[in-house]
Amino acid sequence: MRILFIEDEWKVARAVAEGLEREGYQIELAHNGEEGFFLLNSRKFDLLLLDLMLPGRDGLEILKTIRSQGMTLPTLILTARDTLEDRVVGLNSGADDYLTKPFAFPELLARIRVLLRRGRGKDILRFQVADLEMDLVTRKIVRAGQPIHLTAREFDLLEYLLRHDRQVVSREMLARDVWQETNRATPIDNLIDVHIARLRRKIDDPFPQKLLHTVRGVGFILSEETL
Ligand code: CA
Repeated sequence: MRILFIEDEWKVARAVAEGLEREGYQIELAHNGEEGFFLLNSRKFDLLLLDLMLPGRDGLEILKTIRSQGMTLPTLILTARDTLEDRVVGLNSGADDYLTKPFAFPELLARIRVLLRRGRGKDILRFQVADLEMDLVTRKIVRAGQPIHLTAREFDLLEYLLRHDRQVVSREMLARDVWQETNRATPIDNLIDVHIARLRRKIDDPFPQKLLHTVRGVGFILSEETL
């Protein structure tokens, strides 16, 4: 997940970027509006973190411009100006959410996760890998025409793997995004392995073609190709 953070206060920008990198996100920093605007138009991001008070082109101006260009990427505005008016102006200009400075990092992280989930949910409602199909609206899973019944956690796990099909998913990613476990002092690798084994029993064991593969020392991959 690539995040662009447009923020002129170097200290805030660095601290947030380091925190987000530790959570596995890729961060690009822009220190003024012009630079941010240029990056938005030259690369693809999954989320924009936008400070409102910027030298040159300010946050609201950037937001209005990108929305008028049809850019829909989820945008979270950060503002030191804690007045209702600014918030309303921000949301009317096309922001998805806002956070008032100073903010606590876990709060920022929580908001980012919600926006990224929402953003992804909008696009894709149905997944397929080989003869395995998942419908997010009816919550039905079918393989080779046979319905497969999963627990809620197994469902979330499979959805995550399908959203990342043909990419290796690490246990760390699963802990963070499926179990919402951010405390590194709580290792849940065994729990993840148990759920992967259960999922494999349901989606792979009865069928000749295996889709869920373990990548030793790295994680898991859902792919119709044999590894
Ligand atoms: Ca600022």
